[in-house]
Amino acid sequence: MDTNRFIARHVVTLPKSGIRDFFEIVAKMKGVISLGIGEPDFTTPWHIREAAIYALEKGKTHYTSNLGLIELRRAICGYVGRHYGLGYRPESDVLVTVGVSEAIDLVLRAVVNPGDKVMYHQPCYVSYHPSVTLTHGIAVPVPTHAADKFALTVEALAAAWQPGSKVLLLNLPCNPTGGTCDRAQLEAIARFCVEKDLLVVSDEIYSELTFEGGHTSIVSLPGMQERSIFLHGFSKAFAMTGWRIGYACGPAALIEAMMRVHQYSMLCASSLSQEAAVEALLHGEDGVKRMRDQYHRRRDFVVRRFNEIGLACNLPRGSFYAFPCVSATGLGDREFAVSLLEKERVAMVPGTAFGENGAGFVRACFATGYEQLVEACDRTERFMQGLRR
Ligand code: PLP
Repeated sequence: MDTNRFIARHVVTLPKSGIRDFFEIVAKMKGVISLGIGEPDFTTPWHIREAAIYALEKGKTHYTSNLGLIELRRAICGYVGRHYGLGYRPESDVLVTVGVSEAIDLVLRAVVNPGDKVMYHQPCYVSYHPSVTLTHGIAVPVPTHAADKFALTVEALAAAWQPGSKVLLLNLPCNPTGGTCDRAQLEAIARFCVEKDLLVVSDEIYSELTFEGGHTSIVSLPGMQERSIFLHGFSKAFAMTGWRIGYACGPAALIEAMMRVHQYSMLCASSLSQEAAVEALLHGEDGVKRMRDQYHRRRDFVVRRFNEIGLACNLPRGSFYAFPCVSATGLGDREFAVSLLEKERVAMVPGTAFGENGAGFVRACFATGYEQLVEACDRTERFMQGLRR
């Protein structure tokens, strides 16, 4: 029987993730140094794990409120107040989700009507385009460029804008480019959003991993909080990818709309992960700083080495990704990544996995041990020398 005919049309046409595709090849090979998957090499700090163990021992194994534990929502409000200057009410303005992934899905499902346009800068996180498609919205990518250090410019935004645009999805610092915007750029984008009446969805999952210049949330700019949803989570800064925990903060009516979708799909995030998240927010900041210092050292090393060996690379101001240009090699990004993997067993992700504006670049995640990075760069140098011969 042809079971494919049961699959919804918009799912049939959904592309397979370029990362997943590539890493199926990597998984079959031996001796590979992977700069591929975007997750910390660190294990979650012990005090956070211990909080979850303690909660388990105490029998905290039940559903929580759909919105999430009130203790966690209070801790979130304290944290976003301290770090981003944002004031939210724990009772009504915060929803605890199964990672930022669920929060992205929820916000789009809560606000997008079929045919509404969702703008986002590209290259971008692999889930943005499919998440828009799954809500029957229309994705409107806005290109960012290496010459601008992959910051989103208001000029590019204005050029891409079309009637029917409803949402601007931002991710600063950005996966995969590490690019971000300075305050003046954010102010110009904020004015544009007010003028065009856009809802801003700000995915700030890498914000603690900003290495210089500090991080400003667009949501904190005048007039923005009322038209923004702030998304954040624990996966990156607290090294908690497997716990699947994140949150959304925003105007009560929008959080309520997201909660309605969430209560019929996820119901609530894992109770143990929520207990661990409280500990992370209340006592985890030293750990975040220690990990960020390691990423900083690794970033400086990797970017210096890439530039030395002929792969032009901006210094990413945030995240744990470097995004070097491979066009000087004469190879396309996929060709480069496949060839580097086959010849030298180093895995990087082709830039086109992050949208067509990623063509000619590869993403190298430096959330990998320093010694491994040294070896990966040496191997990549040998590969580059081989190309010149
Ligand atoms: N947003 C961005 C920009 C990401 O890079 C990722 C993961 O790589 C996510 C969201 C998903 O995060 P979570 O693990 O919280 O679902």
